[in-house]
Amino acid sequence: MDGRLATLLDTVLAGNAFQRGRIGEARALADLPLTTKGELLADQAAHPPFGTNLTFPLERYTHLHQTSGSTGTTLRVLDTAEDWAWWRAQLGRVMRASGIGPGDRVALAYSFGPYVQFWASYEGAQDAGALVIPLGGMDSVQRLETMREYGATALLCTPSYALHLAKVAAENGLLDALAPVERVVCTGEPGASMPAVRERIESAWGARCLDHAGASEVGSLAYPCADHGGLHLFEDEYICEILDPATGAPVPEGATGELVTTALGRVGFPVIRYRTGDMVERTRRPCPAGHPGMWLPQGIRGRVDDMVVIRGMNVFPSAIEEILRRSAGAGEFSITFYNDPHAMDEVKVEVELANAREARDIQARLRQTLGLRVRIVPVKPGILPTYGGKARRVLDLRPPVPAGREP
Ligand SMILES: [Zn+2]
Repeated sequence: MDGRLATLLDTVLAGNAFQRGRIGEARALADLPLTTKGELLADQAAHPPFGTNLTFPLERYTHLHQTSGSTGTTLRVLDTAEDWAWWRAQLGRVMRASGIGPGDRVALAYSFGPYVQFWASYEGAQDAGALVIPLGGMDSVQRLETMREYGATALLCTPSYALHLAKVAAENGLLDALAPVERVVCTGEPGASMPAVRERIESAWGARCLDHAGASEVGSLAYPCADHGGLHLFEDEYICEILDPATGAPVPEGATGELVTTALGRVGFPVIRYRTGDMVERTRRPCPAGHPGMWLPQGIRGRVDDMVVIRGMNVFPSAIEEILRRSAGAGEFSITFYNDPHAMDEVKVEVELANAREARDIQARLRQTLGLRVRIVPVKPGILPTYGGKARRVLDLRPPVPAGREP
């Protein structure tokens, strides 16, 4: 691993002005500076459109993707043909670990556009020998009709969309499109490693639900543990560290920290000690099936900036979701953090419930499991928005804490 890091640094520092300016003479991992997305964005703003994190002349690059985000937060990422081949191989490993291979027909329900997930999945499914059914640019009914026509055996999408698509199938008499599907392979949100979400997707689809993880600026860095749930990090292709986002120090066993990663196979647009923003639990507990790579039984727990401090407690909205999803009658939901007139932090969860009496049970369970007092507002099914891509279900209406004042 040290050898590969040294080789990567030699190549990168020979041609990459951005990295040369940051890294200087440092060569040991712990001496290399952490990189944030903000720094890459600032570099691209100063040197539009592609910035200076480029190891080779522009004509060497063949693939362009961009991250979703509002103006000023869209990052452009370039790949050379070699780097893209590495992406493809990684996604191929994800597909094989999910049990996808020759004979499978893989329906790809990501948007057809500049975002990497569609393209990387498209390549990865083919790398595993499967036939790909691209569904970008179609609405949900058209997607289901297409899956039915071609007998899709696997579906790739976000966990929110898997639940949404099953609902659309039930409402439109298209449940037979679900029947041949054996695997739903999800990414883009933490859901598929949360047992309650996974069980819900599995029961709606009558299929296995598996998780994987990655990002445009990083690559595909985690594959599903098909036997015991959660994720495994591709530690042969990435140096992975789990650090306290506030101090940058490694977190102790059992604690949750930010995944910081160095992609050893990505040379053209390198990320070195990159702060992914993903929060994961550090565990050296081996997976009982003996798969290689650090096991994250809970997958990605949330984003650094998703973590909410409420009445002095750290809460991931995904932990609230996990409890809501255990309630069979609960549909879509929306979480709002706000201040009451006495400036107490409050949490309100609007949730679609067929039977409003379930609200009391959910409230009790949230209190028991998270120690959190939550106001549950039952709403009629079908009122809250459903999500095709990444879900936006959390609203924080509390005024920012003034500097120098403890929350
Ligand atoms: Zn495993």
